[in-house]
Amino acid sequence: MIGVESIGILGGGQLGRMLTLDAKRMGYRVVTLEPFPESPTGQVADEQIVAAYDDLRAIGELGARSDVVTYEFENIPLESVRLLEGQGRVVRPNGDALRITQDRILEKSFVRDLGCKVAPFAAVATHDDLDAAMREIGFPAVIKTARGGYDGKGQWVVRDEAQAQAALLEARGAALIFETFVPFELEIAVICARGADGNSIAFPVTENQHDHGVLATTIVPARITPELAARARETTARIGAGLGIIGAYCVAFFVFDGDIYVNEIEPRDHNSGHYSLDAMQISQYEAHVRAICDLPLVEPKLFEPAVMVNVLGAGTGDYLDGVAELLRDPDLKLHVYGKRHAALRRKMAHFTVLAPTVDEALAKAEAGRRKLRWLAHGPVPQPSIAGRLP
Ligand code: AMP
Repeated sequence: MIGVESIGILGGGQLGRMLTLDAKRMGYRVVTLEPFPESPTGQVADEQIVAAYDDLRAIGELGARSDVVTYEFENIPLESVRLLEGQGRVVRPNGDALRITQDRILEKSFVRDLGCKVAPFAAVATHDDLDAAMREIGFPAVIKTARGGYDGKGQWVVRDEAQAQAALLEARGAALIFETFVPFELEIAVICARGADGNSIAFPVTENQHDHGVLATTIVPARITPELAARARETTARIGAGLGIIGAYCVAFFVFDGDIYVNEIEPRDHNSGHYSLDAMQISQYEAHVRAICDLPLVEPKLFEPAVMVNVLGAGTGDYLDGVAELLRDPDLKLHVYGKRHAALRRKMAHFTVLAPTVDEALAKAEAGRRKLRWLAHGPVPQPSIAGRLP
């Protein structure tokens, strides 16, 4: 048991923001470390340390001001977490879980060694490795950078040798993973939270639809058989136990030909769990706080089927038009992240719709999505009125 008053978060994005809001509601003090001032997390935290993730002095400062340190995205330098652990700070999830999940080759090998199914893959660093991978795995395939990729960045779908060679060239010597392209029927994910005592809880299986590698829509519960759902939840629990994770984490799967294949592990709260803020009695964020602060983990209950829509930037302006129209739906909840610039496919906000059935929630979500547009600017106030304002 650790007595926690103050939680430190490495990273300042929207996951950290929602984590902070739940942590604050539960009475904790929150400090975030993030290089960009006034980050989505920093806007709601008690304090933001503005520093790079590899600024070891600042990392030490975060540790000194926190009873437990966690992270809201996994591409932070492992050395920073190792430094904190070396100083005797409590970091949850632990550095080894981060080390493995930061590297797709280590991650996939770990999952395979646990006895879970993954798409056939090979590590590729040289032309010879690529030749071997093309022979053994074949086409179509997906080549991904082993480290640092997210939201579909650093990925190439390749259909022949010429495309594979071009990807190798473009990757400029980065370690790569070459894996079978899975013509999946669905993508699903499970979020679990695991405590220091090894107890874990699982959220319902979600169905996730992507656009250009970025999550667009989450549907819960996933439209899969109860047997497959049970297998996904069991696999996720097994992976968390294998990694010794304390906290919330997510495992994403492909559903193909009646089976599930692990695609990715995220040792943190996940975009596909945003819906839990509005559709469940405890959110993934609260579950994470409970797990890292040694509080009881309770079985999450889904109130109603839900659909979560990511509101992504379009690169056409920073003013979100249509919000008033969107908010006419009484079963819809909007969450805005406090980011200034709506660059193309940047995650700016999301909304969740609840309905008695998945189909109804989907229809409402689609109607909502169509109401929103990014414009260069909002309505310009009439000068005659604006001039009279104080
Ligand atoms: P990832 O960064 O691995 O989560 O990949 C982002 C998205 O790319 C996934 O959610 C899939 O939609 C797609 N993708 C990744 N790997 C594969 C694969 N081996 N076969 C088919 N689609 C893939």
